Amino acid sequence: IKENDEPERKPPSIAAKGRRKSTVAQELIKGNKRLSCAIKPPEMQTKRGKFGEASRPNQKFYEMIQNFRETLEITPISTTDLIEAYKICVCVRKRPLNKQGTVKEIDVVSVPGNGALLVHEPKQKVDLTKYLDNQVFHFDYSFDETTTNDMVYKFTAKPLVQSIFESCMATCFAYGQTGSGKTHTMGGDFTGKQQNSAKGIYALAAQDVFHYLNHRRYADLDLSVYVSFFEIYNGKVYDLLNKKAKLRVLEDDRQQVQVVGLEEVYVTTAEEVIRMIQTGSACRTSGQTSANANSSRSHAVLQIVLRRNDRATTLPLHGKFSLVDLAGNERGTDVSSNDRSTLVETAEINRSLLALKECIRSLGKNSDHIPFRMSTLTKVLRDSFIGENSKTCMIAMVSPGMASCEYTMNTLRYDTNVYDAISQVADLE
Ligand code: ADP
Ligand code: MG
Repeated sequence: IKENDEPERKPPSIAAKGRRKSTVAQELIKGNKRLSCAIKPPEMQTKRGKFGEASRPNQKFYEMIQNFRETLEITPISTTDLIEAYKICVCVRKRPLNKQGTVKEIDVVSVPGNGALLVHEPKQKVDLTKYLDNQVFHFDYSFDETTTNDMVYKFTAKPLVQSIFESCMATCFAYGQTGSGKTHTMGGDFTGKQQNSAKGIYALAAQDVFHYLNHRRYADLDLSVYVSFFEIYNGKVYDLLNKKAKLRVLEDDRQQVQVVGLEEVYVTTAEEVIRMIQTGSACRTSGQTSANANSSRSHAVLQIVLRRNDRATTLPLHGKFSLVDLAGNERGTDVSSNDRSTLVETAEINRSLLALKECIRSLGKNSDHIPFRMSTLTKVLRDSFIGENSKTCMIAMVSPGMASCEYTMNTLRYDTNVYDAISQVADLE
């Protein structure tokens, strides 16, 4: 019995994958950046008392994870870290545990930094011995539970804001299970039911758009800023800036996709944009019995559009930034209700998330074939997946609780899938 009580100390394989070898191979070999999910030498590891708080459920797993963490060398992300300009950036953000009364959930996710994230999956052998299945994942960036929206923004969406002034089409996605922090990240943090819209990636991006607009470097371009905000639910588009009017998506013979009648509002300050985010978000959740129930089943898309001022009636497009708060990625079998409409809804969400993954992978491979017709989401974002000037960022959100472990693994597998497809391209170059 004594032996079985020993926590698993065996570190998982933490060698970094050789992503983007063409540019970073040298540094990788020298052992910084992606290699540094390091294990401390044994003499530096501190021993932890065997007796923690006994009231905790899964106390045994809790101790094993704590012991494992003692061996990890942590390199938190810092403001002074280099911000790379990726064409496709894939990262992960861990939210804090819920502070739920006396029931103490245990945290099964560790973020050592340098793009690495570990899941300590609690498992049991047939003889009931408890052990941890420690798995490591690597991305461009990994953000721990103490990271602020500001910091996440700085490494993810901020570089994309500047790119739209250089005629790019940029997209930024928040992906993950319901409750993992997608809306918190994009729309702003909550104090109770009140959302602080000025502190989300939407608002931070809007502020920077006006900052660059007035910058000497871009002043000659003579640009104007427009905003639209819509929701995609069950494959249908609803305008969040026009009382949820249902809109049609049309594709012309040149494959140009249009959302017919979508409000595109001319804006001159970030404050105006923030007010629109508030109006739109309120519109998104209105008329629902449970505040999160329906909004978690739809994708919300905020678009910041730059147009060149021109005498013509249709102002030429210069650049566009689409920020997407995706529908929760939990599967149909997880939804307690199994009525028909829920199943249809889930199938549609799965299809659109699959389509999105395929489109980003095609973009990564510079493929001519972008399977954008697979879903409404990818259809309306079609012009953001084609050409040299497309840039995208995927932020996967994970909840650290043991109860969410399975969903967390699903999210990380999806994110890894996108990340690996891009690494393979880098390897070939
Ligand atoms: P989602 O949109 O993915 O369903 P939410 O953004 O609504 O999830 O987050 C669920 C709850 O968790 C909210 O109350 C939110 O304030 C909180 N939350 C999420 N991420 C964080 C974070 N990084 N820090 C603090 N609280 C968070
Ligand atoms: Mg949400």
